[in-house]
Amino acid sequence: EEREPIEEARPKTPVKPMTATEVKVNVSIPEAAERAAATGADGVGLLRMEHMILSTNKTPERYIEDHGAKAYVEEIVQGARSVADEFYPRPVRLRTLDAPTDEFRQLEGGEDEPHEHNPMLGYRGIRRSLDRPDVFKHELEAFSRLYEMGYDNVEIMFPLVNDADDVARARTLLEEAGVDPEKRTWGVMIETPSSALVVEDIVQEGVDFVSFGTNDLTQYTLAVDRNNENVADRFDELHPAVLKLIGNVVETCREHDVKTSICGQAASKPDMVDFLVEEGVSSISANIDAVRDVQHEVKRKEQRLLLDSVR
Ligand code: PEP
Ligand code: MG
Repeated sequence: EEREPIEEARPKTPVKPMTATEVKVNVSIPEAAERAAATGADGVGLLRMEHMILSTNKTPERYIEDHGAKAYVEEIVQGARSVADEFYPRPVRLRTLDAPTDEFRQLEGGEDEPHEHNPMLGYRGIRRSLDRPDVFKHELEAFSRLYEMGYDNVEIMFPLVNDADDVARARTLLEEAGVDPEKRTWGVMIETPSSALVVEDIVQEGVDFVSFGTNDLTQYTLAVDRNNENVADRFDELHPAVLKLIGNVVETCREHDVKTSICGQAASKPDMVDFLVEEGVSSISANIDAVRDVQHEVKRKEQRLLLDSVR
């Protein structure tokens, strides 16, 4: 009997180290889904909805005006399902729209954007969404459609919440769009110091998870603009103040059985990985090119902790 050539018998996905902490991947554009899935990541920790909209070169408002709300929903559904397909049944966390007004201004319809002195402290993320429920509801309908189509691996994430009230209002709109928050996995980003400080109240709203957006959490905690090169040397995701907020949130969430994760750029830094594994974070989501290194760093750190515990 002939044997299979060895090359053929090799698994397609690289052998990844087994770890207790999940290692996921961030997907910026749906086109990257296949490459992302091939990393062997445990799921997608962040899929940003804005690329599905911004790639049409229109603001959401202009898109809906020109093509109708149904087409807007479809744009999101098609973008999300290509990733959800690639990863199924691994979970894919889809985040509702979060682009600042200066980014929207570049697009068709951008002339209608409010002028803001400081867009990063302004009208973005859940703030804009809650203020414009007529647009937001279509993003939420996209989730409803995805679940109808059988993509039960899709999870819902809300950006830039400040407090329990933001979360409660988003949850209500989600229900109004036909999604049962009790049946689906949903959560919020922790990226303002405020949300970290009142996380005890936020978990009471029934979130399944929180995810640290360390790009913003660092910017707002240290008052260092993430896009300002004059203060770039002060942008430090490992600053004790940032780590203190993260550590406190992880502890509170553990008490309430709420999962914690990170999807900011800092997730690919070994020192951050070590810190998070030691704190007991549930998952770490890194960029495609960093996933493999993060998998190995998590493994190393978990083994070290295990050895320390039996010593
Ligand atoms: C973050 O703030 O860390 C994050 C992941 O969100 P974004 O970079 O899209 O603001
Ligand atoms: Mg952010």
